[in-house]
Amino acid sequence: MNLPNSPVKKIYECRSCGHVSIKFWDSHYDRTYSKEEWRVILEEGLQALKKILRPVSEDPKFFTN
Ligand SMILES: [Zn+2]
Repeated sequence: MNLPNSPVKKIYECRSCGHVSIKFWDSHYDRTYSKEEWRVILEEGLQALKKILRPVSEDPKFFTN
């Protein structure tokens, strides 16, 4: 899995469909993950994610099951 080498500015979850949108400081990397894609990322890429998610990692809801 490749994650952009750019810090995350904001993450938000769509309340209607569960898609997770990630905004990077470099908006070139902005993208939206489906609920399933996001689950896989959390399971397989948590270490990588922790680096880029540091600005928002105080919000625990993205790291719980
Ligand atoms: Zn939606």
